[in-house]
Amino acid sequence: MNSIWHKDNIDWQFPLINDHHDTKILIIGGGLMGLLCAYELQKQGKEFILVDARKLVNGTSANTTAQISIAHDDLYYKIKKKHSIKKAQKYLAEQIKGLNHLKQIIKNEKIKCDYQETETILGASQKQNIDILREIQAIINPIIKTKKLPLEKSLFNISEGIIFSNEAIINPVKYLNGIINILKNNNCAIYEHSKVTKIKKKGTQYEVIVNDKFKINTEKIIMACHYPFLLQNLYFAKMYQSTSYVITFKTKKKLSASYISLDSPYYYLRTYDKNTLMIGGSDHYTGSTTDIHKCYYLLQKKIYEIDKKAVILDKWFTEDSMALNFLPYAGPYSKKHSNIILMTGFQKWGFTNAHAIALKINNLLQEKYQRNKLALFKNIKNYLKLVFHSVNGLFISRLLIKSEALKSIKVNSGKALRYQGKNVLVYRASVKEYFLFKNKCTHMGCTLIWNDVDKVWISRCHGTIYNKYGHVIYGPGIYDLERIN
Ligand SMILES: Cc1cc2nc3c(=O)[nH]c(=O)nc-3n(C[C@H](O)[C@H](O)[C@H](O)COP(=O)(O)OP(=O)(O)OC[C@H]3O[C@@H](n4cnc5c(N)ncnc54)[C@H](O)[C@@H]3O)c2cc1C
Repeated sequence: MNSIWHKDNIDWQFPLINDHHDTKILIIGGGLMGLLCAYELQKQGKEFILVDARKLVNGTSANTTAQISIAHDDLYYKIKKKHSIKKAQKYLAEQIKGLNHLKQIIKNEKIKCDYQETETILGASQKQNIDILREIQAIINPIIKTKKLPLEKSLFNISEGIIFSNEAIINPVKYLNGIINILKNNNCAIYEHSKVTKIKKKGTQYEVIVNDKFKINTEKIIMACHYPFLLQNLYFAKMYQSTSYVITFKTKKKLSASYISLDSPYYYLRTYDKNTLMIGGSDHYTGSTTDIHKCYYLLQKKIYEIDKKAVILDKWFTEDSMALNFLPYAGPYSKKHSNIILMTGFQKWGFTNAHAIALKINNLLQEKYQRNKLALFKNIKNYLKLVFHSVNGLFISRLLIKSEALKSIKVNSGKALRYQGKNVLVYRASVKEYFLFKNKCTHMGCTLIWNDVDKVWISRCHGTIYNKYGHVIYGPGIYDLERIN
């Protein structure tokens, strides 16, 4: 599931934690959000430590499509419907700040990240989506000027579109490499392969355990680990993970703008380089489908609609955290843990959100917890969907698993099945070699599904991903699957 950005072969190395430490601020997570917080703190000369469970930039930020855009699908419409037009416009104003901040950093720090200014078209053809498009334009027009026209109609096959100007596309790994180099040159304390396995509150301080062994005592924690791994305050019932698939393809067709479709099946499109385009979409609730081939197939179909002679290059998938109330969360974790600042729920629009949040880092570190921010029952339809999803992952799916012979599994493939009376996950490595695991995610005990394209196990509930040998490669789960043979 490595994305095209991994080909750039950019490498950095930071040590593993091998001692106890004291610090004022601990940042958990070295993706886009954690690194931007680190960047802002180092600029102010503040003391901090950053730890990442794996290598830096290996989570969602390494698999993103990096459209630097404020054309956030139908979010403005959803926020207006759920909250108010004022809230939707406030969200937009924050995104504009985030977009400008990113551009400023690239310019000031002279980061080489294949930055390219572009327009983004948010388009639709289906009647109900054209109505939504018009509502979006009414919400955003008092704040920004957008053009309305069906540009490149033949390529995108749309009836109506809004054009957002002064946007950009970048190479996300090169951009974050630029940030990492600044941190490195300023001797910031960064540790890779250093996973937070426990957080204990001790008076006004926290004792954070890394790799089950070393302690970091800290006053504040910035939790930028994408999806919160602590179970307190029920974040798992206020947000969910959504999976999105990406394919790059060689084509002679050129785009003069990036594109986001409001129609179903959902997709988005950008340029990668002069001969290559990138398409993403087929989004679904993480863990809700086992037909991964179909998810990629829908995008492939779109590719061949664009160009019959296109040549498929890379394929990958990744997940992002979606808030039930459609607003990203940046603030104290809970009343009890007001010194843990959680940053999550970017709804596939991490770049502008993360930059806007990083700008406010000092205020956030002082903010008091306000109960209502991710209110549980505000969106009853989505909430019930989430409850069903969890009940299915924890109980129903378990009952539906069938007994099958291990030999029914193809070589280099996996399956969830009943074997000798137990629910197990089996990966068949060769004709005779099988790896058997308990069918129980180490996060909250949900069942898992096998993704046969990317050869990974995915939790049905909260999106933890394990490689075929059961090693966790993507949180919120912390520990590997339990091997039983
Ligand atoms: C397919 C797809 C396309 C997207 N395209 C766009 C786009 O075009 N434009 C846009 O703005 N946004 C886009 N996004 C969204 C954006 O990429 C994400 O919102 C953003 O990258 C999230 O960054 P993050 O730092 O929160 O998470 P991550 O990049 O996942 O970083 C979290 C880090 O925390 C670490 N971690 C986790 N648990 C622990 C622990 N216990 N201890 C220590 N470290 C830990 C992980 O190892 C990881 O490195 C897209 C998302 C998807 C899924």
